[in-house]
Formats: sequence, C-alpha cells, structure tokens
Amino acid sequence: MPTASLYPPVDIPDVDLWTFLFERKERPFPEDQIIYQDADTRRCYTYQEVRQAALDFGKGLKAAWNWRKGDVLALFTPNCIDTPAVIWGTHWAGGVVSPANPAYTVDELAFQLKNSGAKALATQLAHLSVATEAARRAGIADNRIILLGDQRHPAARFKHFTTIRNIEGTARFRRTKVDPAKDLAFLVYSSGTTGTPKGVMLSHRNIIANILQYKAGDRNLSCHGGPDGKGDRVLAFLPFYHIYGLTVLIHQAMDSGLHLVVMAKFDLEKFCAHIQDFQVTLAYVAPPVVLLLSKHPVVDKYDLSSLKMMNSGAAPLTQELVEAVYTRIQCGVKQGYGLSETSPTTHTQPWADWRRTVGSVGRMLPNQEAKYMTMPEDGSAPRELPVGETGELYLRGPNVFLGYHGNPAATAECLSADGWFRTGDVGYQDAEGNFFITDRAKELIKYNGFQVAPAELEGILVGSPAVDDVAVIGVHSASHGTEVPVAYVVRSAQSKESGRSAEDEAASIAHWLEDKVAYYKRLRGGVHFVDEIPKSPSGKILRRVLRKNAQLKQDSI
Ligand code: AMP
Repeated sequence: MPTASLYPPVDIPDVDLWTFLFERKERPFPEDQIIYQDADTRRCYTYQEVRQAALDFGKGLKAAWNWRKGDVLALFTPNCIDTPAVIWGTHWAGGVVSPANPAYTVDELAFQLKNSGAKALATQLAHLSVATEAARRAGIADNRIILLGDQRHPAARFKHFTTIRNIEGTARFRRTKVDPAKDLAFLVYSSGTTGTPKGVMLSHRNIIANILQYKAGDRNLSCHGGPDGKGDRVLAFLPFYHIYGLTVLIHQAMDSGLHLVVMAKFDLEKFCAHIQDFQVTLAYVAPPVVLLLSKHPVVDKYDLSSLKMMNSGAAPLTQELVEAVYTRIQCGVKQGYGLSETSPTTHTQPWADWRRTVGSVGRMLPNQEAKYMTMPEDGSAPRELPVGETGELYLRGPNVFLGYHGNPAATAECLSADGWFRTGDVGYQDAEGNFFITDRAKELIKYNGFQVAPAELEGILVGSPAVDDVAVIGVHSASHGTEVPVAYVVRSAQSKESGRSAEDEAASIAHWLEDKVAYYKRLRGGVHFVDEIPKSPSGKILRRVLRKNAQLKQDSI
C-alpha cells in the first residue's frame, strides 16, 4: 500500500502563475517590499517593480516579436535580479521559459535551444560569444538575443531587455490565457533516470503546487519574522537556472515576501560577508557549501549569528557535516530532497525536528503519495515492497511533471499512466514518516549538485580516436567532497600503436574532453583503461559492476 503525506492536503488554486503571484486578494506584505536585491551593486526590485517590469516586458514581447502561446524564451545567465521579471513577462505573453546553465559550451547550449525550439534568448554581456554562436546554430537571429544585468552592449548591437520593456504603444495587448494544468511554465533540462538531457515539462500548476506544498512543510518562512522585524532575508546564490533556485528561491520569495540577497555565483568569503552585512536569516545550500562552512578558516572572520537555519538539497548530506557546522557556527542545517521532475521539493525536514532526524531528508510534503518498489535486474516487473523496506522510491502528486518534451519513450520509462513517477533513487521510510535516501539506482552523477549524464559524456568520448568503447560512472571522492565522473575506456588499436604510455593517454583523453563540456562534467575521477566494458546480453552497460570495482579501489580517487 502506498503511504500518503502526513500533512493535511493543501488547496491548489486552478490559476496560472501570473494570477497566483500578482492578482491574489490577500498578500501578507506591502507592494513596496524589497524582494530581489543584488548583493554587490545593492540594486533592487520591490514586489510592485517586478510586477510592472514583467507586465511591460510581456507586452513588449508581443509588440516586438508577436509572441505566441507556447513560444519558448531561453535564459543563459548567472543569477541576476532582472531574471524574475523576464520569466513572468514571458508567462504573461503565454510563453515558456527554458533556463540553461551559463557554464555551457556552444554545443551544449545549441542542443537545448534546438531541443526546446527557443524563439529568443536572454543572456549577459560576458556570455554573449557562446550565446550568439549557439543561437546561430539553432536558427535564432541576433535581434532575438537580449541582454540582462547592468552591462549594455558597447555598440548597442544587442538590445537590453529594458528596450523590449519600454516599447511604446503596447496598451492594446492583453494577457494570454493559459490552462494552468496543461500549459507549460518551464522547460528545464535533466537526464532523468537514463540517457542524455531531456526537457522536463513543468506546468503552471506544478510550480504553484510546489510553492504551496513547500510552505506547508516549512511554516517558518516569514516576511515578518527577521531579527530586525523586517522579515526573513534569504541568501540566493543557488543557480536560478536549476529547479531548486527557480522554485524555492525566485518563486517562494515572491509568494512569501522574502527579501532575497542575490549573488551571481557562489564565493565563500562573499557568502559570509553578505550574511553579516545583510543580516541574512536563511540560506539554501548544497552539501559542498556545508563542507566549506565546516572547515574553511575564512568563516571565522565573520559574524554569522543572524542565520536561523540553512536548508540543504540536491545531493546527500552526512550527519557528521551537519554536526560539524552546528558546533562551529551554531546554525542548523536541515535537509530537503527533490528532483527537476517534481518541481522540485518532495520532502523536507521540519524545523522543529531537524536535530532529532539528522540524516533523513524529512517528511513527505502534502498532496503526495509514496511507494517503494523492487529493482529487478532480469527485466521482470517491479514489485511493491512493504513500508519500511529499502527499495526504489516512486512518488505521485500535483508537482509531478507532465513528461519529457518530445520524448514519449523516455516519459513512459519513468511516468505511469496513473501518475506514479519513478525517481531512480533508493531508500526507505521509518515508522514516524521520515524518509531516507540511501543510494541511486539511476545512471545520474552529481558533481557539487550539478547533473552529469554519463550517456552524454560517453557519446562525446567515443568520438576520440583513442577510444573504442567507454562507460562513465560516478564515484564519491573524499578530496572533492562530492561525486566525480570516472571513465572506463577500451583503448583503440591506433592509441595502443602510438607507443604512448597508458598514463599519458589517460590524461590526454581527459584533456580532450575538457573544452567540449561545461567545467563540472570534466573527468575529475580520471580515465582507466579496461579490456572490455561489462554489458548485458542486450548491450546495456552494467554500471553496477563498474561501481563495485571502483569501490574496491576507492582510495585511488
Ligand atoms: P535534479 O533534477 O538536478 O534536482 O537532481 C535530482 C537528484 O538529485 C535526485 O534524484 C537525487 O539523486 C539527488 N538528490 C537531491 N536531493 C538529494 C538529497 N537530499 N539526498 C540525496 N540525493 C539527493
């Protein structure tokens, strides 16, 4: 029998995100509440300013480019306080937003632009060369590339988003109506349980559900409760292009009236300085940041006493780390869990309880059900396990995505007709309803919380003249404090005949890959030569065999 959430169900209004955020009757904070503030420049947007900027941008999209329902705007930018207005302006015009990692190479970005069918691209000056080349390959004209942030193009060849905002004569345009349950708000990219990155289709309802589910499980979020009575201040360095930052930071702040102190990217010293200077009360983090806070000497230079709690997600967090940080800075770290496909948060530890249940990812948020299934290796159908036993976690709820864009086969592999989503994660739940994630059944590797899809790296690596066959897996590296990708390679005859040593050839294969992928996908775990890649009779790579061998040699990584 599946288990239901222990929280009472929350009511999810049948509206789109614009209505939910900007047309609601009761808002527990004033219109001039600061929501997004740039930590470096101090530039900020109040609630009302975001609304106006989004409205103007949405009208501008219709006027400038005849924006239609379902048209996709891609984002290729580090965290920027202009991003929320661009997102909701695109929604106002009926569009869909597809955020991409600004560390992407031209190939990686071009793939997402083509796959999502993007009609325009918003970026920043520093990322323009990758953006323009990728856009060219995807058939997006230069005049459909717009800039965000404080820097303008010196020759004004690329428009700033405020130019679209300030187009005149747009009064006649009306907001495009969307179906909250069926129409997409976002197309984020994830490799899911297997294969290369795919567009995760998230509806307006998915995101609204998750905002409300999260709030119900995390009642301490407050626009009134900060140390100076001004409300919670949240440090926002987690990427807005990942679903964690997109929902939990951007949307949660706008819904609850939280003041987000926005960092373009993570830097430990700035992280500490901003907590002190802005009297930050909450920080959303990933385990590598918790590791730094537990060890790095710079932490002692700053007063972090305003911090009430940190919330860690995106990768497993160990009990030792939580205790080490608590001892050092007296701030709790509670854990959450989720996936791009679940909008994202499905579980979080309750504030009151975090110390008693360290190691758990917390309770299941409302309106969801969970079940655990066996993971048969012989291709037979999985069987449901009794509650408490360890198995693969399946979830069902209003936050579960609509499927992978243009990929019904991949959708069918993880999403059943009756709404059950196969997470690819392994774990169990205890008698009190605390969930534990103990392993990952899927191929996915997470480097510092960033997704690395083995199939993507394998697809590129077979293109190397030194490689006949290859398999990539993730192994935990104590020195990196995270999983790292390792390649097992069958060396080509050409490579063997070259007379190069195995050591030199391994280094050269890792180096060859470097400029073809974003920095976090590099083979930090190294390249190992093998005689053959273990495969099933149907040709599937037997990753668990490789993982077992890697575990035996763990200390070499
Ligand atoms: P993403 O779609 O990038 O958010 O990645 C989702 C995956 O991250 C999950 O399927 C898990 O494998 C992993 N993950 C997220 N949160 C946690 C957590 N608290 N503990 C362990 N793994 C996690």
